[in-house]
Amino acid sequence: MGYNRADFNMLSVTEASERILSNFQTTATESIPLIACANRVLAIDIAAAHDLPFFDNSAMDGFAIRAEDTSASPLTLKVVADIPAGSTPKATLKPGQAARIMTGAQLPAGANAVIPVEDTDFHNRAAGTPAPKTISFTKAIEAGENVRPRGMDIHAGEVVLKKGQTLKPQDLGLLAMLGISNVQVHKKPRVALLSSGDELLEVDAPLESGKIRDSNSYTLAASIESAGGEVLRLGVAKDTRASVEALFQKAIREDADFILSSAGVSVGAFDYVKEVVEANGSLIFWRVNMRPGKPLAFGKYLDKQFIGLPGNPVSAFVGFEVFVRPVLERLSGKLDGNRRRIKVRSAEEIESDGRESYLRAKIREENGIQIARLTGHQGSGNLLSLVQADALLIIPAGVKCVPAGQEIEALLL
Ligand code: AMP
Ligand code: MG
Repeated sequence: MGYNRADFNMLSVTEASERILSNFQTTATESIPLIACANRVLAIDIAAAHDLPFFDNSAMDGFAIRAEDTSASPLTLKVVADIPAGSTPKATLKPGQAARIMTGAQLPAGANAVIPVEDTDFHNRAAGTPAPKTISFTKAIEAGENVRPRGMDIHAGEVVLKKGQTLKPQDLGLLAMLGISNVQVHKKPRVALLSSGDELLEVDAPLESGKIRDSNSYTLAASIESAGGEVLRLGVAKDTRASVEALFQKAIREDADFILSSAGVSVGAFDYVKEVVEANGSLIFWRVNMRPGKPLAFGKYLDKQFIGLPGNPVSAFVGFEVFVRPVLERLSGKLDGNRRRIKVRSAEEIESDGRESYLRAKIREENGIQIARLTGHQGSGNLLSLVQADALLIIPAGVKCVPAGQEIEALLL
């Protein structure tokens, strides 16, 4: 088969990533209820249909007044109205008049400032207390004080959220303020996920000699969801051509955006995944010059894009972060997605084999410098060292040794 030929050149991480990404386009959009919009990606810019606040209102519980009245001190004003939040004030304040007003209530005509109740001689603040006949205070108040004028936060027509943004809880609140009950978002990418290997047991099965539990499908399913995707769990394929093919067929029936597998793409005698892809579509490339994660496969099963991650748990995770997360971001139209990369200094000397390497590390600030320490042995099966890490240090291709103290890039997890 072609994948055993010497002419399958090993790609660099950048080449591989670009080739994968060039095969994906942003999914269609849909309109969904606001309540379901958290973590979804906005498909359009959102402009405010009206000013916010929509009317001049009080920022405090107190008394609406005319600031020009406050030149006398002490000052006594006649309270001519009581304005709870939600009401439309009917009175117009004339010189010497005030209106009791609650936070968020609309300012009456004639008023241009609010004196907080705490700054007046009206001390009875229990709920249900009627407004006093008069209030006195000594404080001078300027026009506009404790007033939230119409349009103070947002003007009608202003773009407040942008296409490609991932909606946060506070964004949903803003959409609600603007009366947007249905939102145009990108459809969630649907990923058909399978594991492969005769050694794999379900998570609740007792361990048997020679077997391990299928952990990758949990790591990867959660990773897909964290990137905004929807997981179609296909289960575990046995190490036979027929079993692998059966799950790929299931992926086609489920109409996923792409197929993601782990394991069975190396040079093992029972690694059928690549073969099944080649026999029913095409293997576009195989193997990337990286560590961990070299036996990465990309191709098409029938017309469906397929990404084959390596089986070792850390390799599968790193492969996801480097190649699959960007695919999900592209599919879902995310413009704010890329994981943050920062510069750190290595606490120790690190040896590398010349492949682009992703090493598990913990980063701590020491004397104002971000210092990275490896979290344990870097075997690609050692998931604990990944669990303990908060970053992947990226050692560029061609580098064999990073001296202690040297600056390197870290991908924050
Ligand atoms: P393979 O690429 O099939 O040779 O698998 C490489 C290594 O990853 C082997 O040690 C497998 O047992 C292990 N492995 C494969 N699939 C999984 C999985 N779903 N969960 C945990 N380990 C796995
Ligand atoms: Mg295997």
